[in-house]
Amino acid sequence: MAEPLKKLSQDIVRIDQWLPQDHLPWVIAGPCSAESAEQMLATGRGLVKCPHVKVFRAGIWKPRTRPNSFEGVGEAGLEWLAQVKAETGLPTATEVANTEHVELCLRHGVDILWVGARTTVSPFAVQEIAEAVKGVDIPVLVKNPINPELGLWVGAIERLYAVGVRKLAAIHRGFSTYVEMQFRNDPKWQVPIELKRLLPELPLICDPSHISGNRQFVEPVSQMALDIGIRGLMIESHIEPDRALSDAKQQVTPETLCLMLDRLRVRDAPITDRDVKQKIGRLRAQISLIDAKLIQDLAERMKWVEDIGRLKQQHNIPVLQLDRWENLLEDHLAKAGQLGLDTEFVKALFELIHAQSIKRQL
Ligand code: PEP
Ligand code: MN
Repeated sequence: MAEPLKKLSQDIVRIDQWLPQDHLPWVIAGPCSAESAEQMLATGRGLVKCPHVKVFRAGIWKPRTRPNSFEGVGEAGLEWLAQVKAETGLPTATEVANTEHVELCLRHGVDILWVGARTTVSPFAVQEIAEAVKGVDIPVLVKNPINPELGLWVGAIERLYAVGVRKLAAIHRGFSTYVEMQFRNDPKWQVPIELKRLLPELPLICDPSHISGNRQFVEPVSQMALDIGIRGLMIESHIEPDRALSDAKQQVTPETLCLMLDRLRVRDAPITDRDVKQKIGRLRAQISLIDAKLIQDLAERMKWVEDIGRLKQQHNIPVLQLDRWENLLEDHLAKAGQLGLDTEFVKALFELIHAQSIKRQL
């Protein structure tokens, strides 16, 4: 691991020092947007009954993709956040996107700030936020950028670290896609996993609400996050979800959330049992063998590819043979389907292999 990242990772304040970990998963919950004092208080009263909920969230300034949709109530909402905190005792969190937001939050006693997905993509905006929190001991959570660019995510964390923020965490909320899929945002789990590899001590939180886009997927996506080893969730909850002014489809009532959290299973057992350890060891050995074989086969494939490339060049034949590529893909996908493989995955894999094969022939 690069030395500066190693130091950053080690310097991060452990999450159990600023958030109780007595009920796992621990949860940040609350409405997508603050709408009224009544909506905020009713939601807060519902959520505080759930022992998993440790922080109350609400969006005050909403970064909407298109204009002319509800853009948040602004400063008034900060008063309501303070009321929820006074009544429930829950610490509060909201999204900030500029200096003014940070200053208002600090003035109104907001406990935790987060940088939204549309802000993490902008180094100027992140730098501005970092300058505004300099010297203040407040936790800052960083959502992944809307595009799957790990560098931007790490960069935002580095900018906050550079001004002295040590209570840091990352929130995985999935990535925009151009193609229609089951989820609103593609989880691309490999991206948060790579972040964890780079910054092992950085707490990783999952936001299943923005990944799902639909309340029916919030529970299964939460369970996927826990299966990976994540212990913190940010979930949108509204007292009347269908009447929410933003993200209505993905919000759940505090009651539904509470029942759901009780059903989730935290995977936190270490590998200690000798028998289990041995079995896992054997299975891992098999998997590593197959991986080694895959690499060898790929290397061999590339040799044949280069041979065919030379032959095409000698005979003035273009490298890209669209018919061949289409037939090959069709055959492979049919075979993959028969074997129970996810054809989207196999397609993406062969697109990579084909792109590399073309490159080898140029
Ligand atoms: C939100 O949490 O309400 C929000 C706007 O999230 P994101 O930045 O992930 O889109
Ligand atoms: Mn939202």
